[in-house]
Amino acid sequence: MQALPAGRGVLMEFYASWCPACKHFQPHYEKVSAYFYGSPRPKPEVYVARVDCATEAALCSRFSVGHYPTMKFGKPAAFGVGKEGQLEEYNGVKGEKEIIEWIGKLQSTAYDYNPDKGGEASQQEAPGVQASATNAPKMAQHADVSDLESSTILAFRYIADIGSGLEGLEKRQALKDWIDLLAASHPIDRCRAGAQAAQEALPKLWPPNQATGPGQAINQISICGEKATAKEWGSCKGSRENSRGFTCGLWLLLHSLAARATPEATGGAFWMTAVRQYVQQFFKCSECSQHFEAMAAEESAALVTSRRDAVLWSWRAHNIVNKRVAKQEAADHSGDPFFPKVQWPSPEACPLCRMPTLAAQSADSEPEWNEDEVFRFLMAFYGESAKANAAATLFGNRKALRTKATEDSGGTTRSFLQIGVIILVVLAAAMAVLRRRTANARKSGYALL
Ligand SMILES: Cc1cc2nc3c(=O)[nH]c(=O)nc-3n(C[C@H](O)[C@H](O)[C@H](O)COP(=O)(O)OP(=O)(O)OC[C@H]3O[C@@H](n4cnc5c(N)ncnc54)[C@H](O)[C@@H]3O)c2cc1C
Repeated sequence: MQALPAGRGVLMEFYASWCPACKHFQPHYEKVSAYFYGSPRPKPEVYVARVDCATEAALCSRFSVGHYPTMKFGKPAAFGVGKEGQLEEYNGVKGEKEIIEWIGKLQSTAYDYNPDKGGEASQQEAPGVQASATNAPKMAQHADVSDLESSTILAFRYIADIGSGLEGLEKRQALKDWIDLLAASHPIDRCRAGAQAAQEALPKLWPPNQATGPGQAINQISICGEKATAKEWGSCKGSRENSRGFTCGLWLLLHSLAARATPEATGGAFWMTAVRQYVQQFFKCSECSQHFEAMAAEESAALVTSRRDAVLWSWRAHNIVNKRVAKQEAADHSGDPFFPKVQWPSPEACPLCRMPTLAAQSADSEPEWNEDEVFRFLMAFYGESAKANAAATLFGNRKALRTKATEDSGGTTRSFLQIGVIILVVLAAAMAVLRRRTANARKSGYALL
């Protein structure tokens, strides 16, 4: 950076390859870059660069990057060690026009930006990747255990990557709650054991009521045990580089933790608190954490107390995100063509989850859900029995799953079952009467109609 001519400006984007907000932002940043590298180059000249914080964690920690994407602007020397405070940071709505205007203001100039000539750069679909019914990946029938482990390990690594920024009592409480939640409800034994070890280690690494964080010492915690490492994505693998992966795995983890929240009255409430704090403090995709916080601040979140509440709340929240992201991906083509965002579960995955309707449904009309069936489906996908399901087909185990889910589901299911039992008793009585009458008829010689 020091080798660049001193008078020029440098615009640096700090992003993460897994971060959806960064993917949506990429076409805009490419237009900024195309503008500043256009011919003739606009004056004063600006160099445009970017750093992937998923691989350059130490560098991003030095620049105190709070959320992705973040842009910093300054003279080359201001990117030197110890000079970071001289850099300007961009926050707010990020279109190429606004960014170019912002850089202009910082340099007391007005750049002549014409959107029609601003470069054609936009995110293209990877060559050769076309969605088709024949080579589309198989629909998963339960949360992928390997993806759950990888997302747990990465989520913890990204917390550790915050480095010197990991400080303050709010962050400590968020970290403690996250570890407590994993220790109580993680579906994988070694991650639960690793989190329980972390519960013991945390007070020594970062004593309670101490605002100063643990720095590098936090790396002493191996959240899923010593030898566990993040593996290649399984059901969360995208059809092209940098699609899906971590955020998909994180959703699976959040839903699985909800499905295994300890059944006492407050299990769901603790899940809600711990997940809300985790997303707010440590999930660094800026638009993701803002949107999630808006949902978590609603009254519906305050009403989450039981496991059932938590499972259904996280399902609803995820569907709200699916809906919003579907629109965004249709506009900027940043989505994975094999995995379009849909209201989940699809009718094929769970035929009983949607109420039958006679009215014609448009593609974006809101499904009318049967929440008892949705809960049953989610418990089969994310709950205790989901792991056992990896070996057996969902349908082979349906009897066992239904029995388990019935224990968890609410009054409606119970009353359906009670009605079922009554019908069976009445049928048995009727059969008995029928048998007696048939025997009598045989004796008396007349036939029953
Ligand atoms: C907390 C959070 C907030 C996010 N906010 C945003 C945002 O604001 N903007 C943005 O662009 N991206 C956001 N993302 C990322 C986005 O939701 C996806 O994770 C990403 O686009 C990858 O999508 P995917 O195709 O892998 O499926 P994902 O949406 O990641 O889903 C992963 C898997 O979960 C299951 N699933 C799908 N829907 C549901 C549901 N309703 N209930 C239970 N299980 C379900 C399916 O098996 C699916 O394959 C967020 C991610 C998280 C974890």
